[in-house]
Amino acid sequence: MDLFEYQGKQLFARYGIPVSAGGVAETVDEAVRAAEAAGYPVVVKAQVQVGGRGKAGGIKLAANADDVRLHAGNILGMDIKGHVVSRVWVEHASDIAEEYYASFTLDRSAKKYLGMLSAQGGIEIETVAEENPDAIARLTIDPVDGLSEPNCRAWVEAAKLNPAATDGAVDILLKLFHAYVDGDADLVEINPLILTPEGKVHALDAKVSLDENARFRHPEWDELVGLEKTDAREFEAAEKGLQYVGLEGNVGVIANGAGLAMATCDIVHEVGGRPANFLDIGGGASAQVMANALEVINNDPSVRSIFINIFGGITKGEEVANGIVQALDQVSIASPIVIRLDGTNAEQGRAILSGYESDRLVSKPTMVEAARTAVEMAEARS
Ligand code: GDP
Ligand code: MN
Repeated sequence: MDLFEYQGKQLFARYGIPVSAGGVAETVDEAVRAAEAAGYPVVVKAQVQVGGRGKAGGIKLAANADDVRLHAGNILGMDIKGHVVSRVWVEHASDIAEEYYASFTLDRSAKKYLGMLSAQGGIEIETVAEENPDAIARLTIDPVDGLSEPNCRAWVEAAKLNPAATDGAVDILLKLFHAYVDGDADLVEINPLILTPEGKVHALDAKVSLDENARFRHPEWDELVGLEKTDAREFEAAEKGLQYVGLEGNVGVIANGAGLAMATCDIVHEVGGRPANFLDIGGGASAQVMANALEVINNDPSVRSIFINIFGGITKGEEVANGIVQALDQVSIASPIVIRLDGTNAEQGRAILSGYESDRLVSKPTMVEAARTAVEMAEARS
């Protein structure tokens, strides 16, 4: 899960990394209030999860409230490489003497952490890696040993930062490493890490990606979820804990298991239709999970029919059928439903469903027949 710059900076601040005072704003008025609180001059920064915001006009210095109004007005709503800006971060502007690069990530093949530090910051690290690979000091860190102060200092010296930056950089890198490990991140990056004319070292940007596998021990991440989701359907599904990806078609798809959900999307295509989504309800097809899935699909206005494709493995056919029947009691569904139920105790499951069949609830024995029927129904209702 990727964070916005302002969220990354909030995380950094919790670990004691110096960042500038600032505030997030969704309107021009809020931006002015944030600027007054931070103190002029300020920098107004587009909050989108894509690099190169500066070049795209998404980062502007502002000396007073009129400047903030002008720049926030231009940046809010701006499209940066396909990302529409709905928030700006306004922070007290820094004076820059030098710009560095620092990051920690995982070196999967070495099964170790990898720190990268460069005196050439402010530009994308990929560019530095390509044009001047020797300008990046790499440090492999054994997760068991962690990062000691002497090792960190030697690394900073190897990167040949301005000696005036050494102490500040060592301090920040130790804290950044702590934020990376303790915060369960996959990546923490500061670009640029700056040295000010007064000799202070400071994080001017923040890029953080959190490891979703650690979600269970971070209840505080709940408030971060959804912020990066632009699709309202995906937002709703994520809140219900469903594996959902919105697509462009009109056949709503529900399947158990990611492989079957993909195969279901494929077969809808194969018979000439287009899936409205990918939705994997996972192992157990309980009534509540099924009701949640149906609700998400039902709220998608482009859906014209629903294809439920379940292969009973550990979950038995009759449990799945009962789950579907109970879910239909809970949610009133606008589109006709086609069900293909196979696997363990499929016969018993189909027998239960047959008691509820109508022109709005059809059961088909094979995937391809079910897909054809769902696509025909969607076409008839378009
Ligand atoms: P990115 O281009 O999306 O990575 O955005 P950054 O936050 O890294 O900002 C890009 C560039 O804008 C930095 O490398 C700086 O040169 C400049 N910049 C950002 N904040 C400030 C600031 O407070 N003062 C000054 N003088 N320049 C800034
Ligand atoms: Mn940057």
